[in-house]
Amino acid sequence: MEITTIHYDGYEKVVRCRDVKSGLHALIAVHDTTLGPALGGMRMLPYAREDDALFDVLRLAKGMTYKSAAADTGLGGGKSVIIGDPKALKSEALFRAMGRFVDSLDGRYITAEDMNIGIKDLEIVRKETRWVTGLSRESGSSGNPSPYTALGCQHGMRAVLEELDGVADFRGKRILIQGVGAVGGRLAELVAAEGARVIICDIDEAKADRLGKQHGWEVVTDAAHVDVPCDIYAPCARGEGLHDGTIPRLKCRAIAGAANNQLLEQRHGRDLKARGILYAPDFLINAGGIINVSIEMLPGGYDEQKSLKKIESIHTNLRKVFEIARVEGIPTHEAAVRLAEQRIAAGRAAKLAGKA
Ligand code: NAD
Repeated sequence: MEITTIHYDGYEKVVRCRDVKSGLHALIAVHDTTLGPALGGMRMLPYAREDDALFDVLRLAKGMTYKSAAADTGLGGGKSVIIGDPKALKSEALFRAMGRFVDSLDGRYITAEDMNIGIKDLEIVRKETRWVTGLSRESGSSGNPSPYTALGCQHGMRAVLEELDGVADFRGKRILIQGVGAVGGRLAELVAAEGARVIICDIDEAKADRLGKQHGWEVVTDAAHVDVPCDIYAPCARGEGLHDGTIPRLKCRAIAGAANNQLLEQRHGRDLKARGILYAPDFLINAGGIINVSIEMLPGGYDEQKSLKKIESIHTNLRKVFEIARVEGIPTHEAAVRLAEQRIAAGRAAKLAGKA
């Protein structure tokens, strides 16, 4: 087992982890622990080069700092990536080695599920370290985050409707959901229960058709979904869907969905503002899952009631961000970054005052 530090400006710690026996080659990035230990998922992908993995882990760790700060979870930001094909490389030895590396950071980094990593994998990691979250509810952990992410999106949509119409009334509103997976499918049920008219699409057309028939939701094709007139468009499939090719076609009043990194480039947030489309910044509105996990870290451990209460704050956080954007005349995604930076700066000042 070999762990080496990679110095990277603006990051507290970045390490390369290698274990020849199990074939493990991983990177762990701790971006910022001002507000608490760096929590962020572990993903496994067959990156072509270590540099690609490094780019991903740095970008994602920083994103987690902002997401947690904006959601006020009391956590910092980090991430880990395992380089390799999940179908070929997964083994007990590999995840045990990864667990030992996570453990060697003494709780500065806390891991969780992410792309191609499931609870079964994390349970092996847990044999070597206690710095693992999001395990099964039966084990006292917070379980699957997706229903909480969906609930957080619904709270966020309330703030969006208030900003648009002065009142959070879902009745008769056309809500278009791209991707009816774990989050999008649940979100569709939640807003339909509030009286919204749900429109869905999914790259898996058979699934969309089945759900459409089952619930009486309108189904549109994924290829043409951005042309569909609606009040709120909720991207819940994949990131980077808002760009020069899609933004001019949009016929929505607002965008509020769970997908990460919805803007292809930051300038696309300005384009949305210019077109009068209200954008609920992704890392704010999709924080329900991380909030749920953060409750595990509190003294006394996971408590669903505390989690549900805290997830409601996504509504107030979005209202704050819309206000900052309005007062300062800036796009909402920039206002969300400002809110997160203010919280990190306040945390830093409090730490310094504590030391003085
Ligand atoms: P999921 O895999 O359960 O569902 C994704 C759905 O989108 C699937 O039905 C899939 O068929 C569909 N899809 C995939 N690519 C598509 C495409 N190009 N066009 C249309 N549909 C497509 O995933 P999920 O857990 O529901 O997460 C949805 C999104 O929300 C992801 O971007 C994820 O990163 C983000 N997110 C999820 C959580 C969570 O708690 N699960 C938290 C934060 C952010």
